[in-house]
Amino acid sequence: MPLNVDLHSHSNRSDGALAPAQVAARAHANGVAYWALSDHDDLSGLAEAADAAAGLGLAFIAGVEISACFAGRTVHVLGLHVDPASAPLDRNLAGLRDQRASRAQQIAQRLSDCGIPDALDGALQHAANPALIGRVHFAQFLCDAGRAKSLRHAFQHYLGEGRPAFVPMRWASLEQAVAWIRLAGGTAVLAHPGSYRYPPLHETALLDAFKAAGGDAIEVITWAHTHAQAARYAQLARHYGLKASCGSDFHAPGVGRVDLGGLPDLPDDLTPVWRGWPEFDGSS
Ligand code: AMP
Ligand code: MN
Ligand code: MN
Ligand code: MN
Repeated sequence: MPLNVDLHSHSNRSDGALAPAQVAARAHANGVAYWALSDHDDLSGLAEAADAAAGLGLAFIAGVEISACFAGRTVHVLGLHVDPASAPLDRNLAGLRDQRASRAQQIAQRLSDCGIPDALDGALQHAANPALIGRVHFAQFLCDAGRAKSLRHAFQHYLGEGRPAFVPMRWASLEQAVAWIRLAGGTAVLAHPGSYRYPPLHETALLDAFKAAGGDAIEVITWAHTHAQAARYAQLARHYGLKASCGSDFHAPGVGRVDLGGLPDLPDDLTPVWRGWPEFDGSS
């Protein structure tokens, strides 16, 4: 039987709800054998996650999900098996965290212009790690304030692309994100490609650029993908000679369609991104 592998998850060091040790416990309880924590633009949860996983006998991979730009949109690049103590990686991510702080002020200003005051303080109430203030924290504030029925609704009405409180960002370039990951000894995985909604030519350009930059794998199986998208990205992984990854993108209990460890297996013929990693026992 294939191992249950989940290489994409978030803690409250970014926009997840649980502390890193709680995410480890949930992964273990859900039968995950091989787990990565991959918070947005931040490495500060990895030591706690590694300790907790070791206590549970859960194989742990240090990860990070880097905010990057391609063709005017935000894309996410997962760095898996990075050195969690890499000073250059943390320095580069610190630049993204600074951008988050100034973006948060602009989001709050835009919400204030919409007649919603005190959003920065309100969002910070939800951010266990204030350096990682993000749109989910604003969405939580908007729900509290009775301005949105759900996180999804908050994105649809205020925070999503093109909505009144959306602030366009120039994150890392795709090439920078891949280079930072590789310099920290990691493997670069294009996260949830089905969620970017590029026109077909731009998507081809994205995959060409990712491959050319030294990207290693595509996230084929993830909660954001339909069956048809998983099949499509499996085909693109074959076409580009990229490995394949699998991760729930867990943020919080009850949020999203799948929980930690709840995903189907990768198609048999794809090369799993984790093949050959030392923590992996070679049984898949
Ligand atoms: P940020 O990195 O602060 O711009 O926020 C991006 C995060 O917002 C993603 O990682 C998701 O966790 C969350 N997100 C994006 N779109 C939506 C949506 N439509 N509904 C709920 N959460 C979303
Ligand atoms: Mn997130
Ligand atoms: Mn993402
Ligand atoms: Mn994610």
